[in-house]
Amino acid sequence: MAATIRLEIVTPEKVAYAQEINILEGPAVDGEIGILPRHAPLVTCLKTGILKVTKDGERIKIAISDGFMEVKPEQINVIVRTAELPHQIDIERAKAAQQRARQRLDSEQEIIDYARAEAALNRAIARLKAAGHH
Ligand code: ATP
Repeated sequence: MAATIRLEIVTPEKVAYAQEINILEGPAVDGEIGILPRHAPLVTCLKTGILKVTKDGERIKIAISDGFMEVKPEQINVIVRTAELPHQIDIERAKAAQQRARQRLDSEQEIIDYARAEAALNRAIARLKAAGHH
């Protein structure tokens, strides 16, 4: 049987995921990172994107927006602003958010909050990707 490590994904609202898993891959601030059981301890920032969780031969995608990851010998703690599993994602809502953000970024107005619109776009894209709609 493949080795496992406990993964907990927590947001300010809830425990989004808590399972024994085999592999975690995700968007660390300095590039994609892969964690296997018995990985060396580390703490890193996570960017908005997709966590890929391999468990019992299946790989699921979880949309996250930015936060932190702490890797300990027996457990991975992910603390993020938001996290959604594929079945929790409202695709129409994400498409609408994506469109709103694109319109803001394309607008000629000078007083747009570019970083905010770009972050909203990245969240929407991550949700659509996790739900298999991008
Ligand atoms: P929107 O403009 O649609 O609210 P947003 O990116 O601004 O999107 P967030 O502030 O990141 O939304 O999230 C607020 C809450 O709504 C969080 O609990 C998040 O998990 C949830 N959420 C946001 N978008 C979706 C979605 N498309 N499907 C399911 N839950 C979502």
